[in-house]
Amino acid sequence: MVNLKSKIYVAGHNGLVGSAIVRQLKKKGYKKIITANRSTLDLANQVKVFKFLKRKRPQFIFIAAAKVGGIYSNNKYKGQFIYENIIIQSNLIHSAYLCGIKNLIFLGSSCVYPRLCKQPIKETYLLDGPLEKTNDAYAIAKIAGIKMCESYNTQYKTNYKTLMPTNTFGPNDNYDKLNSHFVPALIRKIYYLKKNNEKSIKIWGDGTPRREIIYVDDIADACIYFMNKKIKYSLINIGTGKDFTIKKYVNFLLKKLNLNIKIKFNRSKPDGVFRKVLDVKRAKKLGWKTIWIHRNCYVNPKHRFVDHAFPSLIEALRILN
Ligand code: NDP
Repeated sequence: MVNLKSKIYVAGHNGLVGSAIVRQLKKKGYKKIITANRSTLDLANQVKVFKFLKRKRPQFIFIAAAKVGGIYSNNKYKGQFIYENIIIQSNLIHSAYLCGIKNLIFLGSSCVYPRLCKQPIKETYLLDGPLEKTNDAYAIAKIAGIKMCESYNTQYKTNYKTLMPTNTFGPNDNYDKLNSHFVPALIRKIYYLKKNNEKSIKIWGDGTPRREIIYVDDIADACIYFMNKKIKYSLINIGTGKDFTIKKYVNFLLKKLNLNIKIKFNRSKPDGVFRKVLDVKRAKKLGWKTIWIHRNCYVNPKHRFVDHAFPSLIEALRILN
């Protein structure tokens, strides 16, 4: 059992999810959080990762380090996505095992489920059908990590779990033009639209695909909750269980910002997966639910998006200015 004095290593602590895990750990009073910048520890270097874990001996590891991106970069840099993700997660998982570290959480992603799977997506649907072509390299790498955790649990009696979060956003997000996910990409577009006084916003695809989103601190909260939970499952979906069309998110944000803008859908660009909403019954049954719903009890889930989109928008303004 991890306590407030346990040594906890967060790999990828500068990223969106990793920084939220550190933020939540500190908030909850954990004292010994271990981090290392890429300049001192390149996680692609097997020897360095092993030596680092042997020296630091954390009792728990969160693997939030990964090569991450939106549709464009997932599709264009498949080689980097498959190699870097497999090498980073394999180095960390195998070195953890060699160093006798029994507990670890690996971050997966809802986009690794089959392209056309039944909705809402249950954990048991993994590997049930063909993958989305635009991110298949990334998905294969992540699936290898999930199976590695499961296999080590079976053979070596470790307690390695994978959390599968839906699309997220929040502080330290990536607003890069070609490399951002759905929410930060939308925030970026709106920022430039305002800045350049444009009269229309261009959205990839036809706007009908549906997306579920979750604020990143909820993912961090789930990570810490499941760190301390003894469970038989090694795979757990993390989401709100609710989704809306892309068009609805865009309209809602534009309206909230009082922007009278025409939306242009670029149908020559890929839509990505049409729908992927997670079945979060397993997480709920194990006692975890999103803080937004729990704390704020909003009747209309769309409001949760706006409440958190605004701080993100403000952050985007600061970063992009
Ligand atoms: P980010 O890109 O924000 O952060 C990734 C982190 O990994 C960065 O801190 C980066 O370091 C670090 N990293 C990458 N390669 C190396 C390396 N070779 N050596 C050392 N550090 C490295 O990603 P996210 O926080 O968005 O994602 C984290 C995890 O959460 C991923 O596994 C992702 O699949 C999962 N996830 C993310 C979602 C999202 O919508 N963003 C949704 C669902 C899951 P540096 O700062 O130096 O670049």
